[in-house]
Amino acid sequence: MRTRKVAMDSIHKLTEYFRDFPGIGPRQAKRFVYFLLTKNPSYLNEISRLISDIKKNIKVCSLCFRFFQDEKTDEKNDVCNICSDKNRNHESLMIVARDVDFESIEKSRVYSGLYFILGGTIPILEKEPEKKVRLEELKDRINKNNLKEVILSLNMTPDGENTADYIKQFIKQYFPNSNIKISLLGRGLSTGSEIEYADVETIKSALENRI
Ligand SMILES: [Zn+2]
Repeated sequence: MRTRKVAMDSIHKLTEYFRDFPGIGPRQAKRFVYFLLTKNPSYLNEISRLISDIKKNIKVCSLCFRFFQDEKTDEKNDVCNICSDKNRNHESLMIVARDVDFESIEKSRVYSGLYFILGGTIPILEKEPEKKVRLEELKDRINKNNLKEVILSLNMTPDGENTADYIKQFIKQYFPNSNIKISLLGRGLSTGSEIEYADVETIKSALENRI
């Protein structure tokens, strides 16, 4: 009886962890647990090792705030390979909400400038936007570069559009005399679409048709 109770507890506990994951409901969480139970020990050891090591070599870039794997672990390096790449266009900054959006755009290979990860979006009627996204860091970042263009690449959802409006006003307010051109991803992205799930062609056309 006792062993049975412990087993049920582990299933329940692990299900609770998976339920915390973004976009995962209770049923999916339980399916993950039962899926893991069908796997052999080497698979489980490998996945456990990857999870326990995930933060060891991953750093947050001090310029764009994305997570990156630092290959040169012996050096004190807190700037990612994209921000330190001299071949990229350092006069163009693309603002995205999350790392997954950055990944979709980078994978499409249609943009060669720099990025800034906001860390989230600003819901409509939010009273404390500074708690939702990196506003001070964005100000510092714009101050550091001699930017010609800022591209707002946010989801075509109510929160995404609200964030785009807010950031646009924020930049205009803090940099009133700058000649930074602020543009938004264009019509390629239809209403309700999310950058994370957009294909290469859609991203390419949205970027070419930026407004
Ligand atoms: Zn970076």
